[in-house]
Amino acid sequence: MSETTGKKEMEKAYNPAAAEAKWYAFWLEKGYFTPKIDKTKRPWVCIMPPPNVTGALHQGHALFVGLEDAMTRYHRMLGEPTLWVPGSDHAGISGETVVERNIIQNEGKTKNDLGREEFLKRVWAWMDEYRNTITNQMEKLGASADWTRLAFTMDPQRQRAVRVAFKRLFDAGLIYRASRIVNWDPKSLTVISDLEVEMEQEQGSLWYLRYPVKDAPDQFVTVATTRPETMLGDTGVAVNPNDARYNNLVGKTLVLPLVGREIPVVADEGVDASFGTGAVKMTPGHDPLDFEIGQRHNLPTINIFNPNATVNENGGVYAGLDRFVARKKVLADLEAGGYLVKTEPYLHNVPYSERSGVPVEPLVREQWWVKVGPLAQPALEAAYDGRVKFVPERFKKVYTDWMENIHDWAVSRQLFWGHRIPVWFCDNCGHVQAVEEEKLTACEKCGSTDKIWQDPDVLDTWFSSGMWPFSTLGWPDKTADLDYFYPGSVMETGYEIIFLWVARMIMFGMHFMDGQVPFHTVYLHGIIRDEKGAKMSKSKGNVINPLDNVKEFGSDALRYTLLTSSTPGVDTKLSVTRIGDSRNFANKLWNATRFISLSGLEDLPYQAPALQPDAPLADRWIVSRYYELVANVTKNMELYQFGEAGRALYEFLWGEFCDWYIEVSKLRLNSPDPATKLAVQQTLVGVLEGSLRLLHPFMPFVTEELWQNLPHEGESIMIAPWPTVTGQPDLEAVARFEALQEVVKGIRNAKSEAHVESKRVAAIVAARPELKDLFESEADTIIRLAGVDAAKLEIVADTDLAEAPRQALSFVTGGATVYLPLSGMLDLAVEQTRLSKEIEEARKEIEKGEKTLSNSNFVDRAPAAVVAKEREKLAANREKLARLEGRLADLAV
Ligand SMILES: [Zn+2]
Repeated sequence: MSETTGKKEMEKAYNPAAAEAKWYAFWLEKGYFTPKIDKTKRPWVCIMPPPNVTGALHQGHALFVGLEDAMTRYHRMLGEPTLWVPGSDHAGISGETVVERNIIQNEGKTKNDLGREEFLKRVWAWMDEYRNTITNQMEKLGASADWTRLAFTMDPQRQRAVRVAFKRLFDAGLIYRASRIVNWDPKSLTVISDLEVEMEQEQGSLWYLRYPVKDAPDQFVTVATTRPETMLGDTGVAVNPNDARYNNLVGKTLVLPLVGREIPVVADEGVDASFGTGAVKMTPGHDPLDFEIGQRHNLPTINIFNPNATVNENGGVYAGLDRFVARKKVLADLEAGGYLVKTEPYLHNVPYSERSGVPVEPLVREQWWVKVGPLAQPALEAAYDGRVKFVPERFKKVYTDWMENIHDWAVSRQLFWGHRIPVWFCDNCGHVQAVEEEKLTACEKCGSTDKIWQDPDVLDTWFSSGMWPFSTLGWPDKTADLDYFYPGSVMETGYEIIFLWVARMIMFGMHFMDGQVPFHTVYLHGIIRDEKGAKMSKSKGNVINPLDNVKEFGSDALRYTLLTSSTPGVDTKLSVTRIGDSRNFANKLWNATRFISLSGLEDLPYQAPALQPDAPLADRWIVSRYYELVANVTKNMELYQFGEAGRALYEFLWGEFCDWYIEVSKLRLNSPDPATKLAVQQTLVGVLEGSLRLLHPFMPFVTEELWQNLPHEGESIMIAPWPTVTGQPDLEAVARFEALQEVVKGIRNAKSEAHVESKRVAAIVAARPELKDLFESEADTIIRLAGVDAAKLEIVADTDLAEAPRQALSFVTGGATVYLPLSGMLDLAVEQTRLSKEIEEARKEIEKGEKTLSNSNFVDRAPAAVVAKEREKLAANREKLARLEGRLADLAV
């Protein structure tokens, strides 16, 4: 394709859809996404956070694709063997929920109606369909991931890896089975992790209940609770040993109302004496703290709930009632029996399941647990000593704080969909074993073949994603990939899953890969919000669909917007207007390239931009600025400051290259002298070609399309080398060109403020003596770019100017004082009237602002931001007044 360079005229307008399809297919066909293992070079590796196969992609996915693809393309251009491994996640509980919801809607059946086997068939069908959708969508976003290595957390290779990992942990005693209090989701009917519980503050009540002391009919202990129905499972009352109020009660026995059970009063340091009455009812079966205290005092644990949170047979007459119905009934009966002392309104936190949205029911279940301590210690040290770094750095503390207090990890889930726990029980001899194979044929101890059965639960979905950095490379086999590409380089993901995922990858990576950290850098991005900062949600109707954006503005426009709106670790506000602006940027580059190519580039040899000491000022300026750009963009890419890098490219390409250099170069481009024309073409092409390479990681498609239309070396921009410069920028040329820019901009501004539209005004440039030659030699630039009459431009040294011209607009720049004589430009009387009116308005505004700000009531009470804004407004108005007065003075005879 590079052969067609410059031979065909470019279309008038850029068509993103056509270019995107064409170039993506070309890159794929060339195999650019698949790195070659080269042991003489260090690879750069990024393992993609596998999107959940629960639906289509959203802006969060578009952001991570943009970020990771930008890093990947940058490193590929640096010449490193670059691997970006794509994949998707089976999404455990979310996957199961979304598929079941679908079946309920369409067939009116639940997963239990279908049974495990049939339900799993349906889940697989869903997964196969949506995995393809997700892959196609990532391609549309330009992802240069190595699709030949595409992985799925539930594919056979990864299933085997999970079984092997589980067995190794099991055999090492790092996985154990224990009854503990867990977060039970009574709707999804499974355990969920602490990280999947959302606390919501609610206005509830605090009920004071009195429990009679055994054999002392007049004595009671009053306890306070937000969940009176749980008293059915009470097995004690606890007080703080330092609480003098209850000294004489410890050791006594109480009789539980409604139930009649005899329960002890125990003393425990864990009791908060300031809560309620200081005496706390103990329900070890349904409260984590009570469970802990209960363990210390051997209080029995009684579970009073069925899995769906109705009361079970342990609740006596309340059995079968929903927990909230039971609450009302228990309260009514307590009141009738004289056991309800009082009720107070109470604001408290209620735990909700993030998945199903119902209140979590803490209860005691037998679960498989990972003993985290031995895994966490090395993973902590890797953060302390910097083997794993965080971007932004503040997340290091977030990570270490959590890891220092980490609890064991309950890994079993009561679901159908997921990695089946590879533990088999033998009813013949009681042996329990973990196995690497999918099925166990005989008990390893007694050889029984018919009394063995597999644990019905599946693993927490984060178990398999925690293995992602090495399971995707072929572990547990000793593959060439694993040998070369592990450890990886950067893990890029959302800050909200730093514990759920990042911490577990570091623990598992170090444990299973001989202590080697899975990546040296963790880059954390924020959440994409709407332009007002609200979370996007279907119910709010503020969702911006990335694929709609791609269709309307092009993939590059969306990527560029996401990358330049985002700062590491900070949430991003996304507006469609900005995506439109980015589309305009792509169009601007298209027009610039087309303009340059129309000058005839057929025979132009490719040449990197180089500073020529004898070149015209504009050339030395743009090449110097290009040198600075290369250094600036490279530095920011290394620092993961993609927003900074992207903005610098925009400012250079649009603000300097297009708006100034192309304009200035037009005269020479039309020169009859071939050498003059060639020189300027070479600079135009060299600077643009290099800048397009710098922009490629942000806007891969349009840069490839444009690059192919310019003289270049190589087959594709995506495998072209990252630009470097050897020379130093000519800072004097930069300063001189900027002095010229200031004069041109000043004249434009002055004309615009005075509403003068003529392109042929008179101007006197009173230059600093050492810059007189600059303005003389660049007179053409002033004439053309500022709209000055060539015959009426005077350039003098300011020391030679005896007297300031009268009736002229004037302004001062670093290099000159410029006067624009007004005769013929505007009607003096009309302008004076207009200015006087504006001056009066400005004065009124200032008066108003001063009054507001002298009002202490406003200054003290209004939000600081509002006051600051008012101050800014006042300052701006004062400045405006000074400018208007200066202009009126200029008009005076
Ligand atoms: Zn056996």
